[in-house]
Amino acid sequence: MTELAELLELWEPVIGLEVHVQLATRSKAFSPAGVVFGAPPNSLVDPTVLGLPGSLPVFNQAALALALKLGVATGSQIRAKSRFARKHYFYPDQPKNYQISQYDEPLCENGHLDVIIGGAVKRIKLTRIHLEEDAGKLTHVGAMSHVDLNRSGVPLVEVVSAPELTSSEEAAEFMRSLHRLVRWLEISEADMEKGQLRCDANVSVRLRGEDRLGTRTELKNINSFRFVQNAIDHEIARQLRLIDGGGRVERETRLWDADAGQSAPMRSKEEANDYRYFPDPDLPVLVVDGPTMGGILRAQPELPAARFQRYQEDIGLSADDARTMIGERALAEYFDATCKAHGMLKSGRTIANWILTELLGALNKAGKGIAESPMPPERLAALVRLVEDGTISGKIGKEVFEEAFAKGEEPGAIVERRGVQQISDEATLAAVVEEVVAASPKQTAEYQGGKDSLFGYFVGQVMKKTQGRANPVITTDLLKKRLGR
Ligand code: ADP
Ligand code: MG
Repeated sequence: MTELAELLELWEPVIGLEVHVQLATRSKAFSPAGVVFGAPPNSLVDPTVLGLPGSLPVFNQAALALALKLGVATGSQIRAKSRFARKHYFYPDQPKNYQISQYDEPLCENGHLDVIIGGAVKRIKLTRIHLEEDAGKLTHVGAMSHVDLNRSGVPLVEVVSAPELTSSEEAAEFMRSLHRLVRWLEISEADMEKGQLRCDANVSVRLRGEDRLGTRTELKNINSFRFVQNAIDHEIARQLRLIDGGGRVERETRLWDADAGQSAPMRSKEEANDYRYFPDPDLPVLVVDGPTMGGILRAQPELPAARFQRYQEDIGLSADDARTMIGERALAEYFDATCKAHGMLKSGRTIANWILTELLGALNKAGKGIAESPMPPERLAALVRLVEDGTISGKIGKEVFEEAFAKGEEPGAIVERRGVQQISDEATLAAVVEEVVAASPKQTAEYQGGKDSLFGYFVGQVMKKTQGRANPVITTDLLKKRLGR
């Protein structure tokens, strides 16, 4: 049997993702029934959700506003007039026997997602983003199956990538970047454990250098970043082994079993015409007008990938720090506000260090999020300046930080009250150095005789006499001069 690594030198994996994102509306896509996670089964239903004869869908404009934010943020072409279509299939989680979706006239097309991979950004094409409704949920218990229609009719966007991802890592990063983006835009909480973001992965392989795509399989309903990676890795290996053994990949839909760590065939892939798509006669054309678009364009925040690049290029953060900083929009905004309050671009890395170590550490200990930080950006900026201009040492700075964080006090006031200003006056420090040297004849002789390791002893003594307030740079200078080495 050929090694997998060897096969991968010859064959290139190709992956396209279809990601469903639940839009954070209060009511369903086509009726006023509520959307609440964890409500008692079948409590969030009405005649439309139940598909009762005579009920009519009315589209929830709040879902449109959220979908448009994503369309604009991904640079998609937005259809001024898009259309809902019925996608027919029978399944007990869907009483109408069709799902309202969009087919040949989706809301968004030809956009892109900026995917962060390592220190760089890779732009992946998005074929389309369309609106649709979710189905209900089936739970199988022994010989029984329970139907819960609470999720039925919840608005979703389906984000479809072009087949441009070439490894399971890239696919997982695509998911992370989309997850980050929809949270950033506040269009979805995208809690994967609640199924608010989930994906189907299409996987094929082709000989490297070949333009045509190979036959793909589709892995259904993957709901964690780790599973995306595992399921795709597993599928790539399965296809390569199959081909290596003289077989052929069949076009089929497979179900990923995360517990077993393997996939099994679910059904042969249905074709679009199996669904008997046609425009939904109950719903009018979906219109997006100029003022609505204008409002969304004007309100668009700086996006995570742009910030990721700016933090590296303009501020000099490492890729890892930049990625952590854009983990959440509130954190990135806190960082920017602190830099602005501080005023010096070249201090950005120092500020980032304070945020990523001291502030996040303290917040974590206090069980608080960045939005509830008791230390506003202006205060952190003031503290960083006190350390930078030598008013206090870095070590004292950390103590002042802790007190400012705990008591919500101004760093300047804490420094005044505690009298912990750094001593940078040369004459004062020279006198202390003199005292220390005079009191340590033995160490002085040894040091001057060549025992370099004793230098730390002298610095320590000066710090002790000044309660840690001596400016370390000046102290080192003075000691070197005085001891003559
Ligand atoms: P369908 O209409 O059957 O869902 P699409 O052409 O819309 O098919 O593609 C669905 C998804 O499958 C997209 O994310 C696309 O990138 C991906 N895809 C299509 N062909 C391939 C392939 N040969 N290998 C991997 N992914 C593919
Ligand atoms: Mg599809």
